[in-house]
Amino acid sequence: MENNTIRFACNGCGICCKGRLIPLTLDEARQWLNRGHEVAVVLEAFDESTWPTQPRQFTHSAQRAVEVTSGDARIRVVAVLAGNALTQCRNLGDDGRCGIYEERPLVCRIYPMEINPLIALNPKEKICPPEVWEEGEVLFTDRVVDPILADQIERSRQADRDDAQAKIALCEAMGMTVAAWKGDALAVYLPDRARWLEAIARYDQAPVSPAGLDWTVRVETPALAEQLQRVGIALDDRHSTDYIFQSL
Ligand code: SF4
Ligand code: SF4
Repeated sequence: MENNTIRFACNGCGICCKGRLIPLTLDEARQWLNRGHEVAVVLEAFDESTWPTQPRQFTHSAQRAVEVTSGDARIRVVAVLAGNALTQCRNLGDDGRCGIYEERPLVCRIYPMEINPLIALNPKEKICPPEVWEEGEVLFTDRVVDPILADQIERSRQADRDDAQAKIALCEAMGMTVAAWKGDALAVYLPDRARWLEAIARYDQAPVSPAGLDWTVRVETPALAEQLQRVGIALDDRHSTDYIFQSL
């Protein structure tokens, strides 16, 4: 007998290829740029004192983060690289099919499964039409995930951990050292493609660790700003237009 079974049959509607950022591993970002597309960077900071209350959540995020200096404090920063599909993915053809299907990013292979091990798959939270959940392959049953998907999910999580230092070093090399605070806002950078390619080429020739630069944090909520200042975290109040700041 199947318990908690989730079946899924993608209908190819392409909704998941539109109106979003597509998270990429560093290697996938290289390929994305080499195909002539834009790669965005989302920078998110946190520390033990404010986020989160659950230790497992903190451990999961800390594995994807790099510890950096901010004023008199140490904070963790995660850099998420993402293909710009805010209108729609440039690889989506007029026929609604993926133009790079065999080489599509891991996240596209994994969707609608969750990559974060602490988030349970909930069809109601997904943008897929309701009918695709009624039949098809078994994605998940009794906490067992389809083995091919499980392997792709693990590869994605491992890449998050493996790429963390390199991504922060690249951000520092491109002058992106202001992060938003996790749960408060998003800081989204859209670096010029040529700058990206130049920074990656330089990094690939001579990989470096993060340079120990002083990072700043921009926050939306006044109470949070006071709290972070009290522990010595440097706040960014220049309201620079180098990035898009979106409160949550
Ligand atoms: S790479 Fe393909 S599957 Fe992924 S978002 Fe773009 S069009 Fe969709
Ligand atoms: S939104 Fe869901 S059903 Fe539509 S193409 Fe994406 S994964 Fe398939």
